[in-house]
Amino acid sequence: MPAVTPARWVDLPRITDPPGSLLSRPVARIATAPALLEGAGFPVRRPWPSREIGFREADPFLLLDHLGAVEYAPGEAKGAPWHPHRGFETVTYMMDGAMEHRDSQGGGGVIRDGDTQWMTAGAGILHDEMPTGELVQTGGRFHGIQLWVNLPKQLKFAPPRYQGLAGDRITLLASAAADSLVRLIAGEIGGYRGPGLTWTPITVIHASLEAGARLRLAWPEAFNALAYILSGAGAVGAGNALVIEGQGVLFGPGQVLTISAATQLGGPTHRLEILILGGQPIREPIASYGPFVMNTHADIVQAFDDYQAGRMGIIPATEVSPGAGEA
Ligand code: MN
Repeated sequence: MPAVTPARWVDLPRITDPPGSLLSRPVARIATAPALLEGAGFPVRRPWPSREIGFREADPFLLLDHLGAVEYAPGEAKGAPWHPHRGFETVTYMMDGAMEHRDSQGGGGVIRDGDTQWMTAGAGILHDEMPTGELVQTGGRFHGIQLWVNLPKQLKFAPPRYQGLAGDRITLLASAAADSLVRLIAGEIGGYRGPGLTWTPITVIHASLEAGARLRLAWPEAFNALAYILSGAGAVGAGNALVIEGQGVLFGPGQVLTISAATQLGGPTHRLEILILGGQPIREPIASYGPFVMNTHADIVQAFDDYQAGRMGIIPATEVSPGAGEA
């Protein structure tokens, strides 16, 4: 897992260990992510929304898809061809491999090896999310996540916005003992800020813990707190609940998040790879259907009308028949 992983962590700015008097959040729920196929048939694991962690618990997050990790054979890699979104944001973070993105507003680019694309669909946009042609042709490792972030009612019709957060812009921090690497993609931790611009207060972190490391993070009490194990195993929360790859965690109330890596770790990195995230809940009604997330059923009907009438944009003419004209 390359992501962005410096060889030496001792040189990074250190996060001060929160005082032991602060309350460590307990684990409220653990969700073992079911595996399913998304888009044109690529494998994902989805810890939420799920029976254990629903919209209410994940708020302001709507969905987390763990993409891979898979080793694609040549010709095997698939993506999500042109489709619309309205009413929320999609955040795509690639740890291995590369994804190519194009949208109906002319935006796009390649997301690879530690890059994040933060797309505000807002009022509506069409986009195309595919593995790069090179990855399709030659095959290779593909590992990332896509997170859906809800927007409050007054922002659901915000103009679409595209943030390409190159991996080298991510804020890199180390734990006090320098045995954990904290990649701050968005939000604030210990006085440091990540590069992602968010509409509502949110923190998104990818952390790597050496075997046996213990990471403690001060966490705003008004935020919810979630985690997802990308690879490896460890223990989380005040009660040290055991978790393994593919499990989502919902924390209860408190002031500090505690995460420990198992003392023996295999996998591609021999570390615990964990996504840590939370935010200020929006607490608004959710009407969700496919690629649209709104407040009411009438909003969803309107979204379908607007999509079909081309009011969310149209597929660029040059993209309608990729490969057309080739011999
Ligand atoms: Mn999409």
